[in-house]
Amino acid sequence: AKNRGRNRYCFYDSKLQAKVLARSALHTGLRHALSQQQFSLHFQPQYHRDGQVLGAEVLLRWFDAELGPVSPAEFIPLAEDSGLILPIGAWVLQQSCQQLADWQHDTLKADWHLAVNLSVRQLHDPKFVELVRNTLQQTGANPANLVLELTETQLLEDIEAVIVKMQQLGELGVRFSLDDFGTGYSSLSYLKRLPLNQLKIDGSFVRDLLDDPSDEAIIRTILALGNSLELAVIAEGVETVEQYLALRNLGCQQFQGYLLGRPAPVAELSTRHQTPGL
Ligand code: C2E
Ligand code: CA
Ligand code: CA
Ligand code: CA
Repeated sequence: AKNRGRNRYCFYDSKLQAKVLARSALHTGLRHALSQQQFSLHFQPQYHRDGQVLGAEVLLRWFDAELGPVSPAEFIPLAEDSGLILPIGAWVLQQSCQQLADWQHDTLKADWHLAVNLSVRQLHDPKFVELVRNTLQQTGANPANLVLELTETQLLEDIEAVIVKMQQLGELGVRFSLDDFGTGYSSLSYLKRLPLNQLKIDGSFVRDLLDDPSDEAIIRTILALGNSLELAVIAEGVETVEQYLALRNLGCQQFQGYLLGRPAPVAELSTRHQTPGL
């Protein structure tokens, strides 16, 4: 029994070692990813219930020759810890604003927005407001079409500083969406003080909506909250027709998820969605 215990210990130890090695390989790769042009952007459409495309969420993709494709869920936290999120985030912002500027010449797409995910590290960077202002100016993108997504849990870390930064950015004309909403513990009084335009219902509530009455209750509450605070509400992670119809019945106006469109290169965005099951 003692032997087995020791073996098990060795097993976990080497697993841990492998994890540490993998992490350092990721970090090394990440350091060169920008200069070696290994990043690309995917776009996932966001739809109004009437079938119109409203815009898209921008999702970062990294393909390393040795590591293959690496999920942002894996490398974003690493980029945040190392500070690399600042140059990477600046690149995402630049590309997104350039895309918005390109669409402005296309009558069908001139009103589309792009929702860019922000890391709270970027928000706290003293040069960030200036960076956004310069990027908007230099690309000619309409600030009203740029939506910055912040997650609820990140916001709560240093709420007073975050409010000041968001107000400064708001003055540039950009908009804000509160991502993963419902998973943190926002107090309603803070919600009122944040210059928000949209709440994004976290995909975990959508996933179990049909089976779990408490998830339905949470979604109802978020929709009511959006109504009373005059915030748009979008549901993410919509995968099935049943989820989509249930959300519609609850009064949800905006949708995003694999059912309606997977994240893909920009060329795959179409202008209209044929609502499934209707
Ligand atoms: P997120 O902001 O919550 O983005 C939504 C994630 O859900 C994306 O994963 C998307 O591909 C995935 N998704 C979309 N529709 C569905 C669906 O119907 N079902 C399911 N199961 N998943 C769906 P992805 O692309 O792997 O990104 C993971 C996370 O990485 C994002 O979560 C975001 O927090 C972060 N991220 C991605 N791009 C960026 C970026 O440019 N900057 C920063 N700071 N973070 C980013
Ligand atoms: Ca997001
Ligand atoms: Ca989310
Ligand atoms: Ca998330």
